[in-house]
Amino acid sequence: MDKILQDYITKNGPVDIGAFMQMVLGHPQHGYYMKKDPFGAAGDFTTAPEISQMFGEVIGAWVADVWIKMGSPSAFTLLEMGPGRGTLMADMMRATENVKGFHSACSIHLLEMSPVLKDIQKNTLKAFPGVQWHETFKGISPEQPLIAVANEFLDALPVRQLVMTDAGWKERVIDFKDGQFVFGLATPSPFISLPEGRAEEGEIYELSPERSAFMKNFCGVLKKAKGAALFIDYGYSEPGIGESLQALYKHQYVPVLEHIGDADLTAHVDFAALKEECRSVEAMVSGPVRQGDFLQSTGINQRAAWLSAKATEKQAQDIESALHRLTSSDEMGLLFKVMGLSYGYDFTLAGF
Ligand code: SAH
Repeated sequence: MDKILQDYITKNGPVDIGAFMQMVLGHPQHGYYMKKDPFGAAGDFTTAPEISQMFGEVIGAWVADVWIKMGSPSAFTLLEMGPGRGTLMADMMRATENVKGFHSACSIHLLEMSPVLKDIQKNTLKAFPGVQWHETFKGISPEQPLIAVANEFLDALPVRQLVMTDAGWKERVIDFKDGQFVFGLATPSPFISLPEGRAEEGEIYELSPERSAFMKNFCGVLKKAKGAALFIDYGYSEPGIGESLQALYKHQYVPVLEHIGDADLTAHVDFAALKEECRSVEAMVSGPVRQGDFLQSTGINQRAAWLSAKATEKQAQDIESALHRLTSSDEMGLLFKVMGLSYGYDFTLAGF
């Protein structure tokens, strides 16, 4: 990946952070997500569904609740965006096994770009032969209601960075000089809107035209089909100044310009910006609320108690520790947020 990036910069000049993220994560052969399974102890990071089955079970119950409130339509699309190993989908499906009519009404669709992860998802979901994979929303039917979920998907979409200098806002770019990658500054593109208000010299402001475009696109799909969606990710509810771009390699934070293509790159999600985007296309937006509050109000404590009642002492300890990790403010409970969207239905989404 280093060589590809180096050649690209030599030919085209420095790249902005967004183009860098896109290339490093999504390059068809050498992109981070395209060539490896990033999850678990042997990988680089662990996500909520990989921590505990309770996460997917609670989200499954949320999906079933939406479906019932919709009037239990006889056919609907269940879409997951960025499904990783397929664990969340498998847990949701298991949790809804006894919801009468749900499985027969449901067609599973996955939005995934990684061939490696697609293979893993195929294996995880082999009990469900009709699963369909997509790289865009083209194959999502507007003819039947849609229920969609995405966990830690938006954080993988590129951000760009502006830095305040004594000459005003500049865009942060990546250059190749004296045999190494270095950060540099460039005149911001006239197509990005600069933040209003005062900023101190050196302050960094992140923006994500890609996420906004993705959200707008998704809202268009949801509006046509009608339905509801849940986006879960780490991020902030109020717009803010600050850098959140981070690289994770074997569960350790590493400098962004090291382990290029082998470390995961993410940035916190600006939920305020996305909420604006969704409202501008008339979606009903719920939240964002903290993940801890969402999971508790949709029944994770009861789920943990139910599982613990049948568990060995060691298993009960694991359940307790997973519950703590997912919900407590000093772990994922506060940093992670949940945002709900709906179109065409006026019921309240559970958990908000
Ligand atoms: N939701 C999973 C995985 C999160 S990692 C979990 O919680 O465990 C991000 C996922 O999004 C991976 O499956 C990755 O391959 C996928 N992804 C990232 N960018 C994407 C894009 N632009 N289009 C489609 N899938 C993408």
